[in-house]
Amino acid sequence: MTTLPRIKKIAWKWFSVMIRLEASNDVGQVECVTCGSWDDWKEMDAGHFIAKNKGNQFYFEERNVHAQCHNCNRFKAGNLVEYSAFIIKTYGLEGFGEIKSLPQNLAGFNIPQLEEMRDIFKGRAKEAAIRRGIKI
Ligand SMILES: [Zn+2]
Repeated sequence: MTTLPRIKKIAWKWFSVMIRLEASNDVGQVECVTCGSWDDWKEMDAGHFIAKNKGNQFYFEERNVHAQCHNCNRFKAGNLVEYSAFIIKTYGLEGFGEIKSLPQNLAGFNIPQLEEMRDIFKGRAKEAAIRRGIKI
């Protein structure tokens, strides 16, 4: 049975794979945006700049989620000083401000929205994998 928590989890799985693979080089190695270390895309996280528990609008926002090593994402709580610098370097101060002030999404996501997102993320992840000759 399709339940909302389950489909959200699957959509997140594909979003995370897509973020990491699209950021990877042609052999699937990806750089941590906050410390510059490199590893295989499978060994990295897709880390939120603004934590997903701060609001649904941050959950699947591409500008808010990037490849990070476990150390930065899990043990340095996102390494936010460096993450802020990366966001500003990548999107400018304007983009930084836009991400921080994304409109609230109090309603969250419904199942059809999540299914649509899952399909899009999965498609992009597979495309990125094919281009790099990686099996997912
Ligand atoms: Zn790192």
